[in-house]
Amino acid sequence: MRKVSITTKITIWYTAFMVFITVGVLSVLVYTGNLRASEAVKTLLMDSVADASEEIEGFGGNFIVDDNLNFYEDGVYISIYDDEGELVEGRRPRELSQLPELKDKETVKLADNNDDAWYVYDSLFKVDDRFVWVRGIVKDPSDKSTFSFVQNLAIITLPLLVIIAALGGYVITRRAFRPVREVINTVEEISEDGDLSRRINVHKNNDDSGDEIYRLAGTFNGMFDKLEKSFKQEKQFTADVSHELRTPLAVMISQSEYAIEDPEYREKALEVMNREARRMSGLVNKLLTLSRSDAGRLTPDKENLQLSEICEMVAQQQTESAAFKGISIETDIAENICILADESMIIRILLNLMDNAVKYGRENGKVRLSLVEDNGFAVCAVEDDGIGIAEGELDRIWERFYRADVSRSEEGSGLGLSMVAALVKAHGGRAEVTSTEGQGSCFKVYLPLYDADAEEI
Ligand code: ADP
Repeated sequence: MRKVSITTKITIWYTAFMVFITVGVLSVLVYTGNLRASEAVKTLLMDSVADASEEIEGFGGNFIVDDNLNFYEDGVYISIYDDEGELVEGRRPRELSQLPELKDKETVKLADNNDDAWYVYDSLFKVDDRFVWVRGIVKDPSDKSTFSFVQNLAIITLPLLVIIAALGGYVITRRAFRPVREVINTVEEISEDGDLSRRINVHKNNDDSGDEIYRLAGTFNGMFDKLEKSFKQEKQFTADVSHELRTPLAVMISQSEYAIEDPEYREKALEVMNREARRMSGLVNKLLTLSRSDAGRLTPDKENLQLSEICEMVAQQQTESAAFKGISIETDIAENICILADESMIIRILLNLMDNAVKYGRENGKVRLSLVEDNGFAVCAVEDDGIGIAEGELDRIWERFYRADVSRSEEGSGLGLSMVAALVKAHGGRAEVTSTEGQGSCFKVYLPLYDADAEEI
């Protein structure tokens, strides 16, 4: 069964509400109008009877009716009866076949054959020695003919009003909900063909721009932007990973084929294969770290570490490989700096930065590793005097697989710094870089200091 749209629901609701209100107001108006008219006509009836009685005078023990008396005036019929209830003179409406008995100072309501209502009012008074009855009869103005006019008017105008309001309301509501329909259509199209470049067509110059529904459409567009960007990145990432893994694999396949054909080449082939396998293993390890970080599962196995000692050890380790390039390693490491961290992760951070400093360092240059305390952080800086990084590339070097143009001659995957950033973040720290192209770079890593007091609590 097709669901009723919000536009239809709103239209039905307020139309019903409007009908209810209009019927209510009309009924009250008709009722109070009738009531007032009835009261006015009753007063007129009594006044006419009182006026008529003044036109009757005594005359020698009997009474006579003045010629001036009108027996029908302003819709009121007047008739005079003697003390025995016999009609002396007067007029009565033809519609009333039967009249009630005479009753002094009482208003009686009657219905005629046409169902119209009438008021009868009698007054008994004394003229000389005789009693005289004066009877007045008038039609109720709130009778069915007047009422049916109002009813007829309502029957014609009400549905007309309701139809106009319902149509107008429906058009306005439909317009207001247009962005919602656009949202639904766009989302349906995207789920059908997977094209994330689609956007909801929000009409900026509309009167309703800036309202909640318009903002909703804008929010959806923002979400599509983000989704499209992250899908693109995902695709690029998969392409980069495949590319990076294909190169060492191709080398290994060709080397193993040479080895099969030429037994004398086997040792050399094994060496190359081993080197390539190590490269692949390094790459896979970095990818694993990054994917754990993305999933929020990169949890360091924290222990109290002497960072000063670890820095000394890493500097020592790099001395040999640096010497190949004639690079000397200098250290300026403050003693006894402790952090709560995962040892293997910290070593990977430092080795990566030192590797890069040597790799992109100047031949016969210097690499300096320093460690200081600053404002609750252990600040580890790796500085070189090598090729440096262009200003426009400083932000991008932390991206996965990004490699600056000048550094492409060196071996590398572009994953090292992304991994460093992920590892530092997992320790609640941050990494920064300053660099001048052609002069050198300085990478700084801030790691929270070990707070013995905090742990005791
Ligand atoms: P890789 O070194 O494998 O290319 P990284 O993620 O470690 O990947 O580094 C990304 C890029 O940042 C490098 O390709 C290089 O362009 C630049 N870079 C990193 N460290 C340095 C440095 N010490 N000096 C100059 N450029 C550097």
